[in-house]
Amino acid sequence: MVIVDMVERLGGIAEGDTVTVRLVRAGDVAAVRNWCLRTGNTLLRADEAEAVVRRGRAPDPVAELAPHRRPGTRLWLYTNFDCNLACDYCCVRSSPQADRRALGVDRIARLAGEAPDAGVAELLLTGGEPFLLYDLDQIVATCTAALPTTLLTNGMLFRGRRLDLLRRLPRDRLRLQISVDSATPDRHDLHRGAGSWARALAGIRVALDEGFTVRVAATLVRADATEEAELRDFLDALGIARDDQILRPVAKRGFAADGVLTSVDTLVPEVTVTADGVYWHPVGADDADQLVTRDLFPLRSAVERVLEIFKTYRAGADAAARTFPCA
Ligand code: SF4
Repeated sequence: MVIVDMVERLGGIAEGDTVTVRLVRAGDVAAVRNWCLRTGNTLLRADEAEAVVRRGRAPDPVAELAPHRRPGTRLWLYTNFDCNLACDYCCVRSSPQADRRALGVDRIARLAGEAPDAGVAELLLTGGEPFLLYDLDQIVATCTAALPTTLLTNGMLFRGRRLDLLRRLPRDRLRLQISVDSATPDRHDLHRGAGSWARALAGIRVALDEGFTVRVAATLVRADATEEAELRDFLDALGIARDDQILRPVAKRGFAADGVLTSVDTLVPEVTVTADGVYWHPVGADDADQLVTRDLFPLRSAVERVLEIFKTYRAGADAAARTFPCA
């Protein structure tokens, strides 16, 4: 029924316009996604209740990306999967109880060394919480020696030995990305744990005082325009440049019970390496459907494999768009 409803309504709108269809059964999202792929229409967004579909193909998402975000130019490295927090939407199920599954400094050094030849222009280190690793300074040094590097952290551990660790990190070619979800503690702490907002804020101030470039990323759970504007004003006042303010919705992966549905065939890839293999994207980088290969080396082969699969998806969608412009 959902397909019939969608076909009727898409037939009455212009190319580029959208319809929202109600989803009733468990398989409806997959049905809508497959139908869109076959017919050259575009599934823009879906959750368990509804799907938003654009009539016709969306503009080429890769052409719209800045050069530094094109597939293959960024390499994500999961340093570890354990974390001092257990956020209820964590896309890779990190927590204090999660197995560490560390990539380790030797493999990271090899990946960083191979990255420029594989076409990579930027490294991003993430977890879990990387500051749980006492050799993080070696890991970061080996990455920044190869390429500009961004290090993601919840910013809560900059005390004692870990503050010393932070101080040993290079300022050059390194940017810290710290998570803050709201302008006030309530929303952030609701999903990340009591007191976590205040400690993240303290971490941002320490990092800025220590001379690091800081980017702030917010995961938004049903935020409205007012909350987003409040958060932007708050980050402006903290001295975080607008280009360094990343606001994104929750993805329905890992611990998240709700959120934007992502799949390999609808997601522009960002090559991601974990201790377990090479994955399509950092969001859901421990889910089997995202696994591209267990072989981490040579990195160039893994990157080429991801780009080849992506090209196949794009070519298939383009062919469908030519054959079936609409329903
Ligand atoms: S979202 Fe980040 S801070 Fe929260 S549990 Fe996952 S890795 Fe840790």
